[in-house]
Amino acid sequence: MTETVVTRFAPSPTGFLHIGGARTALFNWLFAKAQGGKMLLRIEDTDRARSTEAAIAAILDGLQWLGLDWDGEPTFQFARADRHREAVEQMLAAGRAYRCYASAEELEQMRATAQAEGRPPRYDGRWRDRPASEAPEGRAPAIRLKAPTEGETVIDDLVQGRVVIPNKDLDDLVLLRSDGTPTYMLAVVVDDHDMGVTHVIRGVDHLTNAARQTQIYEAMGWAVPKMAHIPLIHGPDGAKLSKRHGALGVEAYREMGFLPAALRNYLARLGWSHGDDEIFSTEQAVAWFDIGSVGRSAARFDLLKLQNLNGHY
Ligand code: GLU
Repeated sequence: MTETVVTRFAPSPTGFLHIGGARTALFNWLFAKAQGGKMLLRIEDTDRARSTEAAIAAILDGLQWLGLDWDGEPTFQFARADRHREAVEQMLAAGRAYRCYASAEELEQMRATAQAEGRPPRYDGRWRDRPASEAPEGRAPAIRLKAPTEGETVIDDLVQGRVVIPNKDLDDLVLLRSDGTPTYMLAVVVDDHDMGVTHVIRGVDHLTNAARQTQIYEAMGWAVPKMAHIPLIHGPDGAKLSKRHGALGVEAYREMGFLPAALRNYLARLGWSHGDDEIFSTEQAVAWFDIGSVGRSAARFDLLKLQNLNGHY
């Protein structure tokens, strides 16, 4: 039996649904539809200071307007913190994680030394093998992953190809902060696993996280989902995409009179193409879409092209 494809769109509700997010959602949706699978929605609202109800509403509205429906109810990440902690208990029990009592001063010292030596900051693993009896009184520990120190972590990315990261370059990442809150890195892995996600499709800015997340999957003894890190979107001048290039939230295009079908068509071509076809229906995109044919180079957002396309709908 072939497994059912499950993708997910996992926005952080700290602002409106921007062009990059809409394109990520579209690729997840197209891939799921093309494979006869499902697309789930997870609201990553763990940043309590920056997550807002208004942003959640804007994201849901934007997706609905674009016609990108998700399966089932959205999952809210913050509400799952107990489950994230449970996974950490499992790693502690299996010896794949440990309590780290390093003080803020010690961590700052490690950071400063690294900076002085011109290398990225790195936790030196000083609490990896120290017994609990040495724990300083009254200090709450952070929980860190006991990451492998030898060998490599490999990601066979469907877009970026084989990515190999020497394990000596990845330090023991924090899973639970000393106040007991789960880190983003942990929450994403536990949620993707529990939601049965088979394909993680997201921006290439998450590629380094993917290596760390792979280490968490391995520590939990879970299968790693397939990953596809899609290129970022730049402006027509090659610079990082900004409002200056006319790139706004999905809501703004709606207000300007753009049609969802035109925006879908346009977004589908940001990083993916089907021969020389410029104008195609969503049904055609579903029939043709293949995550493996997404290119690696940054896509260029061009408002003029979007305007031209809108005239065809
Ligand atoms: N919440 C993250 C973001 O909005 C995405 C995390 C992921 O796709 O794994 O950038």
